[in-house]
Amino acid sequence: MAVIAFVVLASVQFFLLFNMYRMEDEHYYAIEKQKLHDVYEPVIRNDKLYPGAVQIIDKHVYKYIDTLGMLYERKQFRAFDTLRQLMCDSMFAELRAKSCGDSLVQDMKKQLGITDSLQYCLLIGNIDFAFEARKYIPVYTRGHKYPLINPAIQDRSGIRISGVLKDINGKNTISSLVVSSPLARSYKMDFALHIDTPDRVWGVIKKMMRVFMLSLFSIFSVLVIFYITFRNWLKQKKLADMQTDFINNITHEFHTPLSAIMVANKSLQNEKLTEKKENVSSLTGVIGRQSDRLKKLIGQVIDVSVGRMVKLNKTTLSLNDLLEDVLLDYRLNISDSSVQLDFENHTTYDQVAVDVFYFTTMLQNIIDNGIKYNNSAPKMITVSTTNTDEHVLLSIKDNGIGMSDAITRRIFDKFYRAPNWKKEPIQGLGLGLHYARQCVEAHNWKLDVKSKPGEGSEFIIFIPCQH
Ligand code: ADP
Repeated sequence: MAVIAFVVLASVQFFLLFNMYRMEDEHYYAIEKQKLHDVYEPVIRNDKLYPGAVQIIDKHVYKYIDTLGMLYERKQFRAFDTLRQLMCDSMFAELRAKSCGDSLVQDMKKQLGITDSLQYCLLIGNIDFAFEARKYIPVYTRGHKYPLINPAIQDRSGIRISGVLKDINGKNTISSLVVSSPLARSYKMDFALHIDTPDRVWGVIKKMMRVFMLSLFSIFSVLVIFYITFRNWLKQKKLADMQTDFINNITHEFHTPLSAIMVANKSLQNEKLTEKKENVSSLTGVIGRQSDRLKKLIGQVIDVSVGRMVKLNKTTLSLNDLLEDVLLDYRLNISDSSVQLDFENHTTYDQVAVDVFYFTTMLQNIIDNGIKYNNSAPKMITVSTTNTDEHVLLSIKDNGIGMSDAITRRIFDKFYRAPNWKKEPIQGLGLGLHYARQCVEAHNWKLDVKSKPGEGSEFIIFIPCQH
């Protein structure tokens, strides 16, 4: 709909501009043209083309008119045709040689105070002879090609006597006259003067520049508005899709531990089973672990959706010691035997200010992902620390499936999960890394990700040192 509306709008604009161009072109130089007309016609009132041309024309016409008349009367049309062409050719040649068109136009410009550069063309359109009164026989007709007349001066519009103006049309006609005599042994001739500016098209466009620019601006604005609306719509759609995914995931994530608790509870109600003490402790163990998981899930969802983590409770401590503790706990909870979680300490100083609770959750999330999105055997997660001048660099590297650049750019967005995992049985809420970024930002740290599909991923956190 939007595209059709835009095409219609653009077409209407183009149509209006084109019509306006035609109108402006029609009226372009109109006042000057009228003035030139008013000056030119009196100058040649008793003449033709330019002052002095009538003598040249008459000389040639009256030299041949009787012979031509005789040939015509005797129906010797071939000889008539040859002679009229020869006569025309010599007449046109002399008219061209003796033309004072240039000075005539210059004088007219001076008289009218016109300073624009102008081009002109003096043209002869048709010549007819009247051997008898009012019975005109064509001698030269515009548009015809005559083999015995100089081809260089023959134009679609007539014979070019002088001037270099190329485009001859009604819009640049200053004067177009037909002179004739009612007597026998006379002639009828039409001729014209055309004057134009050499850059007429640009001149017309310049005149309508303001409208042209406004029109361009309006089309551009509509395009920008379309683009912004479309982009916003895409964003909204993406968000809606993400939220739907999130609801689906969260339902599943909450369902699993809850079902386990319900089953364990049911088993505890079974007297036969509870007779054995180890059964009871294993079932309460299940309930305890699953409740912890539920608590963690609920906590994460609430933290992220409320945008908490604003108030940090920072303590300055040795990052390596903290990491040792967190990784020890983590290793105890790993049920997957193919996971190898290593720690490498390459630091010379490691005192950092950190909120232990949030940092631990963040680290767990990143390590969880390194294990979850990993098909290698063994699944290697390497946590390491190094120093730069001002920072301790914490790296968490895995040999998992890795990510494309397009995915890497979005992994920290709320609810984002890479599309290929939708069909796989890997559960998640798309909140783990969003949480990690919030944690990093709240600490004023920096976080970098290096990853390539099939080559694993590395998360690097830049933590300022407390010297
Ligand atoms: P979740 O794991 O719940 O989907 P996260 O915010 O932790 O949400 O991660 C977002 C997405 O980033 C994941 O769905 C996954 O596609 C991708 N991802 C995160 N960590 C890794 C990793 N180490 N290797 C490959 N992909 C990862």
